[in-house]
Amino acid sequence: MPDTITLRQAARDALDVQDACNLSGVAHSFLQAVQAVNAEMRDRGEGTEWRNNHPIIRLYVDKLASMAGVQGWTDLSGAYAECREIAGRTHCATCGQTMERPAVTSGAASVCDRCADEATRDAEGR
Ligand SMILES: [Zn+2]
Repeated sequence: MPDTITLRQAARDALDVQDACNLSGVAHSFLQAVQAVNAEMRDRGEGTEWRNNHPIIRLYVDKLASMAGVQGWTDLSGAYAECREIAGRTHCATCGQTMERPAVTSGAASVCDRCADEATRDAEGR
């Protein structure tokens, strides 16, 4: 039995494995993610179709398909956006760096600590 992980961790793993090159590692991680999505499915009273089309599942299946050379469906922008939302990740509006949480939020835009520091220095004329 793999260790139980949260849906948020599963979403983070689904994003992180996109750079992986070890199929065994991705498959092990995928099983943990399936179990996390299963738990969410039960909590929501959803069914297997909901589970099978979950953005976390889609990102894993796409990665495994890519590794096996059978990748076909390429429009995953929605699945990436949903996984980042579940994972609590966003991108710095200034440099595009991935962040776990916005450091500074002004309006709809959020920036990383480094960009926030630079903006503060610029504003103070240093
Ligand atoms: Zn930044």
